Amino acid sequence: MELENLLNKYFGYKTFKTGQKEVISSLLAGNHTIAMLPTGTGKSLCYQLPGYCLNGQILIVSPLLSLMQDQVEQIMKFGEKRVIALNSFLDPGRRGYVLRNLKKYKYIFVSPEMLSLPIIMNKLQALTISLFVVDEAHCISQWGYDFRPEYSKLGEYRKQLGDPLTLALTATATKKVREDIIKSLNLQKFTKVESTIDRPNIAFYIEEVSHYYDKHSRLIELAGQLQKPGIIYFSSKKTAEEMALRLAEKGITRSMAYHGGLDQEQRIIIQQQFIHGQLDIICATSAFGMGVNKENIRFIIHYHMPMQIESYLQEIGRAGRDGLDSIAYFLYSPGDEQLPVQLAESELPSELQIDWLFSYFPKVEKLDDHFLEMNQHLRDVGGFSEIQWRIIEDFIKSHDFTNINQAKQSLKDFVNDRLRVKKDSIYYLKKWVKSTSCRRDLILEYFEEEPGKGNKANCCDVCGIELEQYQAEIGTQSNSVHEEKWKDYLANILLNRGLSK
Ligand code: ADP
Repeated sequence: MELENLLNKYFGYKTFKTGQKEVISSLLAGNHTIAMLPTGTGKSLCYQLPGYCLNGQILIVSPLLSLMQDQVEQIMKFGEKRVIALNSFLDPGRRGYVLRNLKKYKYIFVSPEMLSLPIIMNKLQALTISLFVVDEAHCISQWGYDFRPEYSKLGEYRKQLGDPLTLALTATATKKVREDIIKSLNLQKFTKVESTIDRPNIAFYIEEVSHYYDKHSRLIELAGQLQKPGIIYFSSKKTAEEMALRLAEKGITRSMAYHGGLDQEQRIIIQQQFIHGQLDIICATSAFGMGVNKENIRFIIHYHMPMQIESYLQEIGRAGRDGLDSIAYFLYSPGDEQLPVQLAESELPSELQIDWLFSYFPKVEKLDDHFLEMNQHLRDVGGFSEIQWRIIEDFIKSHDFTNINQAKQSLKDFVNDRLRVKKDSIYYLKKWVKSTSCRRDLILEYFEEEPGKGNKANCCDVCGIELEQYQAEIGTQSNSVHEEKWKDYLANILLNRGLSK
C-alpha cells in the first residue's frame, strides 16, 4: 500500500509533514536513520507508521516520564491499543502481567533505566524488535545540553538486542552532537534526514530594557497589544504566578499560570482550556509545552533568559504551527544571564556536596548502583535535589569504579565539565541577544546551516520588522469553542486519566 494511504487509513492525515516520508521510506528500505526535524513536525509519526508495515515490536527509548505518557496517549488517540510504557510508574502487579504478555504490545516505550535491568532486557531479547527508536537522541552526547549518562549506554543495549533497525530522533542537535549520536549507537551505515532549524514564519524581536523591573510594565503592555493566543515563559514559578495575576488585574483576564508546582488535574484543565480557546495567555515555566499541540499560537515572550539556544528554539517553536506569521519576543535586561547560571549551578551537585557524600561512604571495595540504592537516606540528609541525586546515580551506574577516590574525582570532573558546557551555552545566548547581526542567521550558523537563506521579510529586529503587524486589532478576541462541547471534552480527558471526581 502507498505510504499516503497508510497515513490516511491509520492517522486520518492526507499529506506528510516535512521529513516524515523521507524518514519512513528510509526505515522501510532497511536503513538506520538519524532524523533531525524541528519541534512540531510530527516526529512521533516516523515510528508510529512503520509499526503498521513491520512485523515485530517497535521499542522506543524516551528520557522523560511525562513525555512518555504524552506519547502513549498520542498513539492511543488514533485507536491503537497495543501500547505500553515500561517505567517506574507501572505498579508491580501490573508490571508482572505486562512482562508476561509483552508480545501482545506493538509499541513499547521504555526509559533507559529500565533497559539496564536484566529482567527487562531478557524479556525484550525474547521479542523481535523490528525498530529501535531513540527519542530525544541529543541526550546521548555529552556536548548536548541535556546529556544523560544512562543514554550513553544505549549503544550497548542496542547490541544486546541484536543490532535492530534504528531510528534516532532529535529536534535540535549541532553537528558535533549528531556525530556523537551515530558513534554512540554504533551505526555503521545510516541515512540522515535533516530539515532546517529555521521557522520562517516566526520573527525574532529582542528588546533590551534598562532594568529588570522595567520588564514588568513592558510585559503588561505587550500582552495587551500582541495578537493572541500566546505563551509567556518564565524561569520561576513565583514570577509566572505573579505575572498571571498582574495581567488579570490589568483586564487581561483570560490568562493563567502553568508550572510544575500545580497538581496534575489543574495542569490538565489549564492546558485544555488553552488548547480549546478558553484562555488567551499562559504564563508558563518550561514544564508547559510538551504534548501541547495548538496550531494558532501567535506569540511567545521570554521574560527570563533560557539556559540554551536549543531549549529556546523548542519553546518558540510552539508558535505558528499553522504557518501564519508569529513572533518570538525576548525581553532582556542587563545581568539576566545570572539567573540561568545560578540554575545551572543548582542543578549539579557542588564539590562540597560531593565531598560530604563520599565522606559517608565506608571503605567499600566497589561502588555500584546497589550501594547507592541502599543509601538513599543520604539524599535527604545531604539536601540533594532530585535532579542532583539523579546525576550522581546515573554517573555511578554508568561507570565501573573499583576505587572510591577515583570515583569521587571522576564525579567532580564530570560535574565541572557539565557546568562548563552549560555556562558556554548561556554565554552564547547572551552573545546572540547582544549581537547586531541578523538573529536568524546566527541561529542557522550555530547549527552549521548556511546563513542568509532565511526569511528576510519578517525576520528580526536587526533586519527590521514592523511590530504593528503582530498586534491585535482593537476589540478582537480569540475564538472560543462552544462552552458545553468543551466541558464534555474536558470531563472525558479527566475520566480517561482517572482524575474525575
Ligand atoms: P514533535 O514530536 O515533532 O514535536 P509530534 O509527533 O508531537 O511532534 O506531532 C505534532 C502534531 O502533529 C501531533 O498532533 C500529530 O498528530 C500531528 N501530525 C503528525 N503528522 C502529521 C501529518 N502528516 N499531518 C497532520 N498532522 C500531523
